[in-house]
Amino acid sequence: MAKDNLQTVKIGNIVVSIDRIKCLSCAACTAIAPKTFEMDDELISTVKSKGPYDDERTIKDAASGCPDEAITVTKAEQGAD
Ligand code: SF4
Repeated sequence: MAKDNLQTVKIGNIVVSIDRIKCLSCAACTAIAPKTFEMDDELISTVKSKGPYDDERTIKDAASGCPDEAITVTKAEQGAD
């Protein structure tokens, strides 16, 4: 099944997006935040389907460590649950 180019997942107070087109398959994010990111069967980073996830700081570190800025982290809207 084809996957959307943008995966967006709400984790606690943040929203994590991965641009699958930008991902270089370097696996850096999975090394920094292994409870949150994994490489899928196409060797593209993806947010795991289930937590417990890494803490917010670790996820942001993984986003800033991405060499192609494929991961964005934004604050979740209040009451968006
Ligand atoms: S760090 Fe960025 S480029 Fe590397 S696997 Fe993760 S999302 Fe892809």
